[in-house]
Amino acid sequence: DLPPLYVITPTYRRSEQLAELTRLSHTLMHVPNMHWLVIEDAMVKTPLVEELLQKTGLPYDHLIAPMPEQYKKKKKDPKPRGVSNRNKGLEWIRKNARTGVFYFADDDNTYDLDIFEEMRYTKRVSMFPVGLITKLGVSSPVVKNGEFVGFYDGWIAGRKFPVDMAGFAVSVKFLLERPKAIMPFKPGFEEDGFLRSLQPFEPKEIELLAANCTKILVWHTQSKKNEPSLPVDISKFNNTNIL
Ligand code: UDP
Ligand code: MN
Repeated sequence: DLPPLYVITPTYRRSEQLAELTRLSHTLMHVPNMHWLVIEDAMVKTPLVEELLQKTGLPYDHLIAPMPEQYKKKKKDPKPRGVSNRNKGLEWIRKNARTGVFYFADDDNTYDLDIFEEMRYTKRVSMFPVGLITKLGVSSPVVKNGEFVGFYDGWIAGRKFPVDMAGFAVSVKFLLERPKAIMPFKPGFEEDGFLRSLQPFEPKEIELLAANCTKILVWHTQSKKNEPSLPVDISKFNNTNIL
């Protein structure tokens, strides 16, 4: 029996949303024993997202977790994107899951199926390279002679765990033994804050995946923003979010 895999996906309403979720859902359709937690940063669920999820036939829960007002109203400063969503996912895991592994999968990244098969055997916390991060082009644990020796990342910033959200997976049991673990609303330090909150846990305990971190099996892809601004007759498109 395969250990269950819980995929936590933050998402929010914008013109790219249905495209991103279509692409990700079609990847996840190839992943066995997977439960998808799709959590919208919204006050109400987007009906077209619900429709999309039903159409996939995947086992899922569709939840909402709006970003708190205090962060949302900040115009220029970086926002803690997807944090309330992921904490809602953690809350769901604590209530409903007992075994297996969870993974934070943003709606816009690109995932090789191999990484899902590797991560589902995580005992504590596993890590692996993420492509297309900063000017360096990759963020990854550094491995020498099969052992973890440090992190390679374009933005260390005093972080104990300078890694990307897409670069680690966590055992459900390991989380349940740490009732205080939570993701902070600190732009840039979400991963570090969450991984620190899993104490006791040290970098040398990381389980190294993707052939000792020599393969890139997930990419931090980003879609170009393209908010339609011209008045078009959209009345005939009944499957777009944006009017
Ligand atoms: N997200 C969200 N609310 C927002 C902005 C983003 O829920 O206001 C979600 C988004 O759908 C994605 C994750 O949070 O799954 C990270 O956001 P984004 O991809 O924009 O961040 P980046 O990749 O640029 O760091
Ligand atoms: Mn992204």
